[in-house]
Amino acid sequence: MNVWKKVMGIGLAATLTVATMAGCGSSSKPGGEGEKKPAGEAPKAQSSTLDAIKQRGKFIAGVKYDLNLFGLKDPATGKVEGFDVDIAKALAKKILGDENKIELKEVTSKTRIPMLQNGDIDAIIATMTITEERKKEVDFSDVYFKAGQSLLVKKDSKINSLQDVNKKGIKVLTAKGSTSAKNIREKAPEATVLEYENYAEAFTALKAGQGDALTTDNALLYGMAKQDPNYRVLEGTFTDEPYGIAVRKGDTEFVKFINDFLKELKSSGEYDKIYQKWIGEKPKQ
Ligand code: GLU
Repeated sequence: MNVWKKVMGIGLAATLTVATMAGCGSSSKPGGEGEKKPAGEAPKAQSSTLDAIKQRGKFIAGVKYDLNLFGLKDPATGKVEGFDVDIAKALAKKILGDENKIELKEVTSKTRIPMLQNGDIDAIIATMTITEERKKEVDFSDVYFKAGQSLLVKKDSKINSLQDVNKKGIKVLTAKGSTSAKNIREKAPEATVLEYENYAEAFTALKAGQGDALTTDNALLYGMAKQDPNYRVLEGTFTDEPYGIAVRKGDTEFVKFINDFLKELKSSGEYDKIYQKWIGEKPKQ
């Protein structure tokens, strides 16, 4: 090979490599290592999430894929639908002017905080209860849905209350990483608690006779009872589960933006429409 051509070739390859690396840097995740900061400046606690969303032109929301009424993927169409999904779309519209400028990513109760923290998603909108413990890891918006924990049993089950599951030999099923798992251990210490990767797996296990009851938020249990009328939700709740939208800790700009968005969604009547669509009634004040 002509030596001159070879040198030119190497030069071109080097130029391309540098250009590619530069490209990588500018598309890095907010707060990531690739972001250039003036020397000595403390890393901004992802205060640039809003900017990052605008730059990329889409909002990446972590939602559930296995919860009827809140976030459920239809395997036939591939569509993910539910209350949380509609809230996420409305937020995409508020940020980018178009509810379709959104990418949904599946989270489970166990994976949602790690996925937020490592930058896979911009926010969690996934049936997540605001708790003091979780506030150490993430920041929450104002409450956007009020639920409470209850129990789902077979229609003909003899279980009719929390006391009925607080017995040796009774198996209660739920999902890993949920407040439901923690609460049931406190409220029914005699029961055996079995935790699954997500609620779809827990419900499948219940249907397969691997437990006596499934426990989580009443609104989610209603969604399951709707999917399979052989099951019923017990009356009443034994905890308060106020849902919040979670963002990375320290992202105060984004929290404020989301709280303004929620206020607008409520005052415009849009929130009530979404609530009515999925829950089938007007929100309780
Ligand atoms: N709201 C409860 C929680 O945040 C139960 C539902 C869920 O696991 O997402 O843990």
